[in-house]
Amino acid sequence: MLSAVVPCYDEEETLVALHERLSAACLDVCGNAHEIVLIDDGSKDGTWPLMLELAAKDPHIVLVRLTRNHGHQLALSAGLEVAAGDRILIIDADLQDPPELLSEMMTLMDEGADVVYGRRTQRKGEGVFKRATAAIFYRVLRRLVDIEIPLDTGDFRLMSRKSLDLLRQMPEQHRFIRGMVSWVGFKQVPLDYERDERFAGETKYPLGKMLALGIDAVTGFSTKPLKIATYLGFIFAVLALMGIVYTLLGWFYFETEAGWPSVMTTVLILGSLQLLVLGVMGEYVGRTFLEAKRRPIFLIDQVIRAGDVSQPAAVARDAARGTG
Ligand code: UDP
Ligand code: MG
Repeated sequence: MLSAVVPCYDEEETLVALHERLSAACLDVCGNAHEIVLIDDGSKDGTWPLMLELAAKDPHIVLVRLTRNHGHQLALSAGLEVAAGDRILIIDADLQDPPELLSEMMTLMDEGADVVYGRRTQRKGEGVFKRATAAIFYRVLRRLVDIEIPLDTGDFRLMSRKSLDLLRQMPEQHRFIRGMVSWVGFKQVPLDYERDERFAGETKYPLGKMLALGIDAVTGFSTKPLKIATYLGFIFAVLALMGIVYTLLGWFYFETEAGWPSVMTTVLILGSLQLLVLGVMGEYVGRTFLEAKRRPIFLIDQVIRAGDVSQPAAVARDAARGTG
């Protein structure tokens, strides 16, 4: 059986088209042995009522409603927890990733792959800014992290149950799922595709969220920023020492009055460096703090299967497992 998992946040404009194309692709490849897990990530528009409507018509649909907006990566995690299939397709709601690639992905998996990930050769309809930041992001990330994370790859992928079950064992709050999947290992193969334009609506990943995802990615997989902070500390300590020697010499041998600018520069440089280093440390300390609380990573309000609307139950992560 195949599960397609689709996190949705304010996607009322795309849902019908998404369901049409995704459902056709699933029927084509797996017949009735499929489910489509739609996660409502606390949408503020008509996404949820529309989902109920779709679910009433299509018994393959499983609905998951989160209690509030948790963000893409957590919404996806909730969906992966509920998905029951032997193979799991992760796909965005906005049809940027063509569902029709499913059959090719299935073939690659038949040939022995555990993960088939979509690799974007082109990103149509996305602004220069988005493309440039994405390109820089993936390349910086590659230098910083200790594991191999494929370039230009989002969360669009087909996973085997085996690799998903290992992924699900990772309890962390700050999730960069494509990195975590890479970390799991097994045979992972790329499938090149052209990323389409968003079918409708605006991106739900504004700059702030992209930055947050980037910081999660780096801090989740690498302690290099801490090391860089240490090196910076060393370099500036040496510079400061030279500055002190220079000042003392000046004081002894020449009657300088020129103290003011040099003091100010030193103070400013050292001050900003300290803030930078503290900030980096703070990111890690903050994450340690949040992880230490061991809170559930997402909260599900309702799971609805086969059009059965009569089972409202609020569950946290562990309880969601039982329903799978
Ligand atoms: N999404 C979500 N929660 C959020 C933000 C986004 O579930 O808080 C979903 C969104 O509905 C879409 C997917 O994540 O299905 C990717 O978002 P989007 O297409 O806006 O990102 P982009 O492709 O612009 O990077
Ligand atoms: Mg998109």
